[in-house]
Amino acid sequence: MKSVKYLAFAAAMMGGTATMAQETFITIGTGGQTGVYFVVGQSICRLVNRGTADHNLKCTAPSTGGSIANINAIKAGDMDMGVAQSDWQFHAFNGSSKFEEDGAFGNLRAVFSVHGEPFTVIARADAGIGNFDDLKGKRVNVGNPGSGQLATMEVVLDAKGWTMGDFSLASELKPAEQAAALGDNKVDAIVYTVGHPNGSIQEAVSTTDAVLVPVNGDAIDKLVADNPFYAKATIPGGMYKGSDSDTTTFGVKATFVTSADVDDEVIYQVVKAVFDNFDRFKKLHPAFENLKEEEMIQDGLSAPLHPGAEKYYKERGWM
Ligand code: GLU
Repeated sequence: MKSVKYLAFAAAMMGGTATMAQETFITIGTGGQTGVYFVVGQSICRLVNRGTADHNLKCTAPSTGGSIANINAIKAGDMDMGVAQSDWQFHAFNGSSKFEEDGAFGNLRAVFSVHGEPFTVIARADAGIGNFDDLKGKRVNVGNPGSGQLATMEVVLDAKGWTMGDFSLASELKPAEQAAALGDNKVDAIVYTVGHPNGSIQEAVSTTDAVLVPVNGDAIDKLVADNPFYAKATIPGGMYKGSDSDTTTFGVKATFVTSADVDDEVIYQVVKAVFDNFDRFKKLHPAFENLKEEEMIQDGLSAPLHPGAEKYYKERGWM
């Protein structure tokens, strides 16, 4: 057998875009199985793995706790890439908000952004919740530890001068459990920062009478005005049973991130697998339908681009 070193050398001599010298396993951190991050990771891996014979990369995308868990796993070197909300990409890179204590993750690198994620509140129709302020005193699933929604919910509460103590119950069930909790009347409402449509909200409205709840007011306006990674967002009427008119809220972008420690060639091949097959990628989830290359390589990205991604975008003439 030829040594790995020899193959790597031969590959380098053959001019750069060569394959990895040996089978290389790469992992993408996603989110709960009923969310959209899981589909993002699975879709990227599916496209990457179609080319394993050429580049020797084998991609897996397990379910995880979400944004914060993914960023921490990338930082620890336990995962190579992951999906994370644009607000948490910003705070991790800058060492602000929830990441103040740990300090800036200066090696965090952006790859591209994906779909928009409205901060979504859905309540039982019988709970008397017509807007976010009505959540006071109610039983609310605020999101699992490690999720973007729990972290963003903490920011919202802070902006409003509330605490978790303002709810009669603040449960931390995972997305896969939250719809059943709503249906079983264990909680009055659930909070989920997520692309639409998604399995969790669909499950909630198909098992119980539930309505999307608007999230607006001065505190939200100020959050959006003060922070580039937040924007006003609308969940279109008619998307879910029980919510026929548009629901206004604010939102973030789902972004795909990695570390500067991950090989340029790995990121180049992953990005190439997605954008060489972009029409196929967009068909893998309705939330990807309106994605545009030129927006994906800049919107919602606050960490520097990974050089492997930049190389591909330059080759395509996008930068
Ligand atoms: N935005 C959520 C998070 O950061 C995940 C949403 C999803 O899984 O689609 O944890």
